[in-house]
Amino acid sequence: MLTLSAPPSEAAATHNVPAKQKKLLVRRSSPDRSQEIRRCVQIALLLLNAYIGIRFVLWVRYFESQGNSPYIERPAGVDGWLPIAGLMNLRYYLVTHHIPAIHPSAMVLVCVFVLCSLLVKKSFCSWLCPVGTASEYLWKLGRKLFRRSFTVPLWLDLPLRSVKYFLLAFFLIVIFAMTAKELGDFLVSPFGIVADVKMLDFFRNIGALGIVVLAALFVLSVLIQNFWCRFLCPYGALMGIVSVLSPVKIRRDAQACIDCGRCNKACPSHLPVDRLVQIPSVECTGCMECIAVCPAENALQLSLATRRPRTSEGLPAEAVAARWWQSALKPQVVAALLALVFFGLIGAARASGHWQTNIPREIYMQLVPNADNFDH
Ligand code: SF4
Ligand code: SF4
Repeated sequence: MLTLSAPPSEAAATHNVPAKQKKLLVRRSSPDRSQEIRRCVQIALLLLNAYIGIRFVLWVRYFESQGNSPYIERPAGVDGWLPIAGLMNLRYYLVTHHIPAIHPSAMVLVCVFVLCSLLVKKSFCSWLCPVGTASEYLWKLGRKLFRRSFTVPLWLDLPLRSVKYFLLAFFLIVIFAMTAKELGDFLVSPFGIVADVKMLDFFRNIGALGIVVLAALFVLSVLIQNFWCRFLCPYGALMGIVSVLSPVKIRRDAQACIDCGRCNKACPSHLPVDRLVQIPSVECTGCMECIAVCPAENALQLSLATRRPRTSEGLPAEAVAARWWQSALKPQVVAALLALVFFGLIGAARASGHWQTNIPREIYMQLVPNADNFDH
């Protein structure tokens, strides 16, 4: 354990002003593993999504070839890419108390991700979401290429950040304005049944405009940290709002902190971590990047609230920091919690028969090859 102290600043000595005393650094006794663990979870989810995507394409091909290719069971996890269907199903369930038969896994996955956000901030975005992972690797690529990420000026940042909330509000207003009958009719309509195939078709038959939009998003994501997540993603907006209720937050111990500002610079959400005692922001994704770069023992934690001492006067920094440490969540625990919610809820849905869409193969044989013709 290395302890440093700083000499008084030259300016203070010259003008006889008492120098702001530099704090003692109690170095971390063990290296931080949060980013390795988070990367493993991200990659596992990326691979899972790739596996689901390949199976889904093969499933669609079976029907498009009129049964002349091997049949593969539909991977219900593809419904994770239908968040609007998931919210519609959830609303339908809340009103009727019946779990819809079409795309029930979309609703289950919305519940999984909401529960993850309730437990550990907006962890869905930084630990689980494949788009969030792609976004993160794109800005990291941009930083390698240009040695920096570009920032949007403050006057533009705020209005741009509200776009995702307006999009979320739009979807919620439309969904909540629908009656249970309208929702039910929509979900069992040909369009509702093959919504997943329509989504695939969007990418398979992407037009010039779609390519331009995707290319623009790609370039902006390379240049600006988390461009899609920060400004545009309504799903992330929902998770952020839910995450306000999370008892777990990034918490800083001002006694142990040496005010080096590294956490501030590392935060992909541009949060002033080094100036707050806890981070209540809807933008905090629980990515733990701030913790990973912090040099001081127990200065930053992803932790439950603990009772703060009435006064920390006279206590050594280690003693104060230890209080946070007692309720801190290690990255292994975060990963385990997310896995528990993910596999627990999906397992329960499977066991109770609310995971797969139960549509006879003959109906899919009529609908899937004609997905282009259905509109809502
Ligand atoms: S405050 Fe820390 S955990 Fe939250 S987004 Fe910033 S770096 Fe990630
Ligand atoms: S990284 Fe942040 S919390 Fe850690 S010592 Fe520096 S300013 Fe304090």
